[in-house]
Amino acid sequence: MKKKMKKNLAMAPIAPEQTRKKFKLLAKQAAGCRLCPALADQPAILSSANGNLNAKFVFVAEAPGRFGAGRTGIPLHGDKSGDNFETLLKHIGLTRAEVFITNAALCNPLEKGNNRKPKTSEIKNCSSFLKETLTLIGPQVVVTLGSVGLQALNLILETRYQLKENVAQPITTPGFTLFPLYHPSPRVTNWMRPLTQQKKDFKKIPQRFTDGKISKSRIITIA
Ligand code: SF4
Repeated sequence: MKKKMKKNLAMAPIAPEQTRKKFKLLAKQAAGCRLCPALADQPAILSSANGNLNAKFVFVAEAPGRFGAGRTGIPLHGDKSGDNFETLLKHIGLTRAEVFITNAALCNPLEKGNNRKPKTSEIKNCSSFLKETLTLIGPQVVVTLGSVGLQALNLILETRYQLKENVAQPITTPGFTLFPLYHPSPRVTNWMRPLTQQKKDFKKIPQRFTDGKISKSRIITIA
């Protein structure tokens, strides 16, 4: 599957060499990062397999999962969350080759061998990698998947958006449109936000751009 993914990404527009060099350096720094003591032995999932450095859409989820990115090295790929995400992406006509996917915490947080939510301190530690990634890519839309992804963006933007209040609402920020959505994990699709509703949410992701900006009629500004 990894080989197939690389082939798809190779078909995407190539980012400027300078951007690719800087991203490579960032990925190297993440690979050597030991800031979070509990995650020091886990690999940081940040590489060319995360997606397109020219992407207009960046998706920010929670953290690599044990059977997903923690195993495959590809964010939101290889487990049920990944399957749901791929269904949702396909539903709106986007491919992985057109987007970039990353996480609030780049390393897989585990407790007794099972996935756990990253701690606030871990999200904070990793926010510099997320901020640098967003600066390098310069996306038009940042879609957060779940409350942890939104928490990471709140840290960077110094805002307090809440998933329940702001779900599927485009929010203007100085650099991009923030679009909070629920996480596609089975826990969420079974108990909080069914996949059918998430399909409707994904359809609302702003996709019309005029002169490099998103059509204003599709954006609401939240003070
Ligand atoms: S989660 Fe981020 S900050 Fe923490 S060790 Fe991994 S790469 Fe470093």
